[in-house]
Amino acid sequence: MKNLSDINVIRAVMSKHGVTFNKGLGQNFLVDPSVCPAMAEAAGLDENTCAIEIGPGVGVLTAELAKRAGKVLSFELDERLLPVLGETLSEFNNVEIINQDIMKADLKSIIEEKCKGMDIVVCANLPYYITSPIIMLLLESRLPIKTITVMVQKEAADRLCAEVGSRDGGAVTVAVNYYAQSEKLFFVPRDSFLPPPKVNSEVIQLTVRKTPLVEVKSEENFFKVVKAAFLQRRKTAENAISSGLGLKKDVVADALVQAGLERTIRAEKMTMEDFAKLSEILL
Ligand code: SAM
Repeated sequence: MKNLSDINVIRAVMSKHGVTFNKGLGQNFLVDPSVCPAMAEAAGLDENTCAIEIGPGVGVLTAELAKRAGKVLSFELDERLLPVLGETLSEFNNVEIINQDIMKADLKSIIEEKCKGMDIVVCANLPYYITSPIIMLLLESRLPIKTITVMVQKEAADRLCAEVGSRDGGAVTVAVNYYAQSEKLFFVPRDSFLPPPKVNSEVIQLTVRKTPLVEVKSEENFFKVVKAAFLQRRKTAENAISSGLGLKKDVVADALVQAGLERTIRAEKMTMEDFAKLSEILL
């Protein structure tokens, strides 16, 4: 099999099929040969696993997943890459490339149909322009996904894996924590990609919880309060929530006190339980 992390091999197969890099689609392909095997190993695959990949590129990670998993479903939006993947992955009969936008795909039906009875994991080098939307889509969909092992921009990794109640935390940190346990696995420098992006990367792993971390009556309300609280980070939670949700300041102030919180608290100091209590009282 061809070495798909070799720059010359990538250039040759792309030029053979008349494909050029599309920056807008986040096409930075891995050229460090150690990264994809390490990601595939971390994903914990066996013959009963169906691995979902988003954005195979020329198939460098796909091949490592195919060597270890029972089945690989790989979503690629760029149809120009289909003939490339047909060539680079020709030796595998357990890979299916699905030419769809991951944000629009009917993941539930596809998984039900193609991965019946199998354990589901996600493993991907994500297109960075939609990192958080993809992760939130996977978590909110309530699909039977066990783990999500993904390469993301370093700064996104810091936020996704931050502790709730710490400076690096944001609305997405709270959301991820609600659904999953997050962990940083390893750092990947920018020169591990062709072409090199402006930013460094990190591989992270989210282990999806069987039940959310806190119990809330309405998830919609919980996330509304979380989003509003972080919308204006420099303001107190009282001011941010009252302007974000169009509520009178007195109402928010009373709710904070009822929840046992200081009126001057900022969103970045609040715990999961604080957000849960506040959302129950407020909305
Ligand atoms: N896995 C390859 C690697 O590691 O070298 C390529 C990763 S590259 C960072 C991201 C890939 O995602 C590209 O192949 C790009 O075309 C694809 N992509 C971008 N947006 C997408 C979307 N909305 N749905 C599916 N694939 C997408």
